[in-house]
Amino acid sequence: MEKIYDVVIIGAGPAGLSAGLYAARAKMSALILEKSKTGGQIASTEEVANYPGSIENASGPSLVARMVEQCKEFGAEMEKDTIVSVKFDEKIKVLVGEKNTYYARSVIAAPGASPRLLDVPGEKEFTGKGVSYCATCDADFFTDFEVFVVGGGDSAVEEAIFMTRFARKVTIVHRRDELSAAKSIQEKAFKNPKIDFMWDTVITEIKGDGVVEAITLKNVKTGETTEHQAHEDDGTFGIFVFVGYLPQTGIFKDLLDMDKAGYFITDDNMKTNIPGVFAAGDCRVKSLRQVVTAVSDGAIAAVQAEKYVENNFHDEA
Ligand code: NAP
Repeated sequence: MEKIYDVVIIGAGPAGLSAGLYAARAKMSALILEKSKTGGQIASTEEVANYPGSIENASGPSLVARMVEQCKEFGAEMEKDTIVSVKFDEKIKVLVGEKNTYYARSVIAAPGASPRLLDVPGEKEFTGKGVSYCATCDADFFTDFEVFVVGGGDSAVEEAIFMTRFARKVTIVHRRDELSAAKSIQEKAFKNPKIDFMWDTVITEIKGDGVVEAITLKNVKTGETTEHQAHEDDGTFGIFVFVGYLPQTGIFKDLLDMDKAGYFITDDNMKTNIPGVFAAGDCRVKSLRQVVTAVSDGAIAAVQAEKYVENNFHDEA
């Protein structure tokens, strides 16, 4: 007989790890499933500036490591697997993964969001060969090289500042003439002598031979296009893309209510339209997608899942 968990949590970002901690501390049998990197987006964030108590040198990976340790200490299990389909029509919910099938009395969906692509020719071909979505992972490869950072939000500007520790020069390419990043982050960037800005500009093509060697840039106001070539001595340069994220909610399509962009619609208790299925974190319709709101969602979802299991499976325990 397969094990039936009180709660299976899909996603080991801050929302999923917080849910795992609260569920395990409530003595629920809890399994956290993650398909790629534990920690979600903060696993590739150099500085977590907006999380209370997180001050100098509080890197994303170190925060994740502590969250994981805490979850395990209280007995939450963790597995690497990609859930490919779910069945929510019976009392016991079924999650079919690439490796295993999992059974749960309740489910917390915390699949997060993944980087939005530029969707231009050459982007896929040169991913890992000059194009990156993770400064923490790849900044070091561009020590003393030139780097372009695309985007104007918090991620782009913060990661551009981080990149200046490595790169010779960092150019922020933004499609408008003002940034949307928090003012405090903008101020730091404007003061940084290594950061330049290309306003009203998008990258339309990425070219090279094995590695990135050139990009085509277009001014969206004038329509003018220019080509940027790698410096002769460098032979290549980096392109770091931070143009927002897309919710990873595809497998729940037609089952769980979502808005037009694919974000889950829940109530304040993280309840979805299916009893016993909760959603938490960046995958949810909300006004602020931050670690602090993700961990709050996870805690609420776990407490609600515990109540659901207690009310619906009490006699079977
Ligand atoms: P974001 O706030 O959605 O910003 C995306 C940026 O990419 C915007 O500047 C947008 O331009 C641009 N963009 C979107 N699609 C584009 C395209 N196809 N081509 C070129 N540019 C494009 O995303 P984010 O910066 O990743 O932040 C996501 C969330 O995480 C936010 O809530 C943010 O506050 C949070 N965050 C917080 C921190 C922190 O507090 N320390 C750090 C990182 C992220 P437009 O402005 O023209 O739309």
